[in-house]
Amino acid sequence: MVEMRLQKFIAMCGAASRRGAEKLITAGRVSVDGVIVNELGVCVTGEENIMLDGKRIKPVSKKIYIMLNKPTGYVTTVKDQRPERKTVMDLCRDVGERIYPVGRLDYNTEGLLLLTNDGDFTYCVTHPAHETQKMYEAHVAGIVEHKTAEKLEKGVIIDGRKTAPAKVEIIAHKQNSTVLHITIHEGRNRQVRKMCSVAGHPVIALKRKSVGSLTLGKLPLGKWRHLTPDEVKAVLGNK
Ligand code: URA
Repeated sequence: MVEMRLQKFIAMCGAASRRGAEKLITAGRVSVDGVIVNELGVCVTGEENIMLDGKRIKPVSKKIYIMLNKPTGYVTTVKDQRPERKTVMDLCRDVGERIYPVGRLDYNTEGLLLLTNDGDFTYCVTHPAHETQKMYEAHVAGIVEHKTAEKLEKGVIIDGRKTAPAKVEIIAHKQNSTVLHITIHEGRNRQVRKMCSVAGHPVIALKRKSVGSLTLGKLPLGKWRHLTPDEVKAVLGNK
């Protein structure tokens, strides 16, 4: 049997992405033949009894890829530490397979969220080297001037580090607010909110409208749909 890293096996089981699997291992949640493995570097063949949180996991045969139009008020985790908060999984119960979110959106952000049980797909979308473009519609306070939009495009300092070049389009000026389309490829924590705040225009509402070539289209808020085979190919082809 071919040996592989334990984190790769966990990803093949659809329990997490490879990076997520590394966290599960170091958190001591994975055992191999009854022994907790909490260090990275262990290889398995898949013949072993591999358990996550005491439950045996096996490679998935059917891969699932879905797009959810996430409403605000939902956490992008499989389980929230605060049980009173709803998670995106509450909106995808009827998928009927164990899936997990690809990247994350803030509790107060709505829009396009991908979920899958395919670790390779997650890797293609989230690995920084692939520079997957994500477009956000940001409704921000105040009137954004062109020179401010240009500053945001060139990069601003957030959390002590400059953001990578972005695309910023002014879509509409309202009475005392502005609608922007901001396209970034980094996935730093609360990046769009922090960028807009640094520019003096705090976000009022934020919605992700596209990830790579995938767009929300007319998918209603709170609903999900399967990706088409062509949509999946477009993402995996980017590996
Ligand atoms: N940037 C943010 O600030 N929030 C998100 O949810 C996504 C990107």
